[in-house]
Amino acid sequence: MAKVFCIANQKGGVGKTTTAVNLAAGLAMAEQRVLLVDLDPQGNATMGCGIDKRNLKATVYQVLVGLATVKDAIAQAEGFHVLPANRELAGAEVEMVELEQREVKLREALAEVDADYDFILIDCPPALSLLTLNALCCAHGVVIPMQCEYYALEGLSDLVNTIKQVCKNLNPNLTIIGLLRVMFDPRMTLAQQVSDQLEKHFGNKVFQTIIPRNVRLAEAPSYGIPGVLFDKTSKGAKAYLSFAQEMVDRVNSAAVAA
Ligand code: ADP
Ligand code: MG
Repeated sequence: MAKVFCIANQKGGVGKTTTAVNLAAGLAMAEQRVLLVDLDPQGNATMGCGIDKRNLKATVYQVLVGLATVKDAIAQAEGFHVLPANRELAGAEVEMVELEQREVKLREALAEVDADYDFILIDCPPALSLLTLNALCCAHGVVIPMQCEYYALEGLSDLVNTIKQVCKNLNPNLTIIGLLRVMFDPRMTLAQQVSDQLEKHFGNKVFQTIIPRNVRLAEAPSYGIPGVLFDKTSKGAKAYLSFAQEMVDRVNSAAVAA
């Protein structure tokens, strides 16, 4: 049985895709069987894994509207699999309005490959849309990447409320696994203050690992290589590798507790 996590935050540019890609590659390096689902029509996770989004046999779009299976659409990245996306996915939202039970289409599709992976990660688009709802409906947990800045907490309550609603009505298993501090700049007093505030309010829901702002992580996507593989010695790569380990530990300790 795969553990399914979505990387969500309705803000754009907060590090969702960078987290999804590097967590996928980091988990793969830790011998985990990983499927990364790109659920953003921008296809950044797809490209960041070295898969050309303009040249795909099938994508998550066909899977959602019932024209392909997950296995039909899977592409191979370095050490893990990707269910890729491109602009076609933007149309899915409109087409799916017609479908019954449209919020569980991804869940139904992923059931086919559940036994093939230890982790399924879903990179969400920057909106609380039907696509994000599909991700929340199949996930065991949500990872929320956050920049430690003044407005960071503002959108958080909307996301937390959405997660609560989904939990109540559609997916009782859903929990927030944790808040991940990303693009962290320790020289900024404000960043440190917001980080302390997060720890105070959310306690152990805040991951111990902090991802620093690191230019190597930003450069890696243009080479189609996850940051953890692009420059293994960089601070950003090391941070994402410890984050991957922290995820494995959290999943294992949750399994022991259950
Ligand atoms: P989202 O998926 O939430 O829109 P991205 O992961 O695409 O966010 O990140 C937005 C931008 O910030 C990208 O250009 C990315 O390369 C860059 N970025 C993300 N994380 C870091 C980091 N830790 N250090 C430096 N740049 C980063
Ligand atoms: Mg993104």
